[in-house]
Amino acid sequence: MREWLFKNRAADWEQMTNLPKTLRSELAEGLQLWTTEIVRHTQSDDGTEKLLLQLADGGQVECVLLRDRVRRTICISTQVGCGMGCVFCASGLDGVDRNLTTGEIVEQILRLQHLLADDERLSHLVVMGMGEPLANLDALLPALEESHRPDGLEISHRRITISTVGLPKSIERLARTNASYRLAVSLHAPNDELRNQLVPVNEKIGLTAILEAVDNYFAVSGRRLTFEYVLLANINDDPQHARQLSQLLRGREALLNVIPYNPVAGLPYQTPSHQRQTQFRQILEASGIRVHFRHLKGDRIDAACGQLRRSQAGPQVVSLG
Ligand code: SAH
Repeated sequence: MREWLFKNRAADWEQMTNLPKTLRSELAEGLQLWTTEIVRHTQSDDGTEKLLLQLADGGQVECVLLRDRVRRTICISTQVGCGMGCVFCASGLDGVDRNLTTGEIVEQILRLQHLLADDERLSHLVVMGMGEPLANLDALLPALEESHRPDGLEISHRRITISTVGLPKSIERLARTNASYRLAVSLHAPNDELRNQLVPVNEKIGLTAILEAVDNYFAVSGRRLTFEYVLLANINDDPQHARQLSQLLRGREALLNVIPYNPVAGLPYQTPSHQRQTQFRQILEASGIRVHFRHLKGDRIDAACGQLRRSQAGPQVVSLG
């Protein structure tokens, strides 16, 4: 069955033709293969495709397939909504409803795999969709296991990235038990004062504890760390911020992924101008930090996390409190 599902991309029990016919009909009657429904499927010119899935209880989550030369990267969600409350993010605007189950996480992976042509195969997996993955590790880890098993999708560990707001206890747990994945930490600010404003959970955590946990993760895993920084005009894009950031990251084997803000309807934040982005980048590069500016892939199909779900829900009044 695993082979049929993961290797042969079977869509139902009936297609699993080397199972006895009676077993197939018993399975079809007694065991539901898919628990989600595709309520929206959007595609953009650059090959990005996005699915909005409806869960059995009516909740909705998003997942994305990105095509970049030979790379086929999928981005999956771990929760319905998000409890971290980052002020610029669409996923957390209404808080978190619930954790996804392992099955619901695996189902996103399979649904996205079904979008591929026969000669395409999934190469990378990023856990950067809706939700905070480290708040749902119990369901996530078995789903990732399925992705890299030799009789599953065979995506190697180093091509699987977990993105987190930075929860030190869970990072420590990962370091103890599953240090083979890549870790990406959403930083967004070079000091606690600013980070507390943008990432409210930071108030109880603080950058020192996060950096300590990720340094330990790096020591155990040997995997280069990634830091993410959403660039918001006139908020965290000042040359002073770039200088502080380079000091914070200096000496670490790390990549800084700068993501120009992808506007969310109803929120007051803006994408910095090209000139401002270049200035930010140059300061970091001059101080020897490895920087990558992420292009806004799929922005026209609301491919930033949480945006499709909101646009589907129709016009909404968003509280800016
Ligand atoms: N909760 C995890 C993973 C989900 S968010 C985390 O915080 O890392 C994945 C990444 O997308 C995060 O770096 C997040 O800050 C970023 N992001 C969220 N909303 C965005 C937006 N509107 N524009 C650009 N990046 C955004």
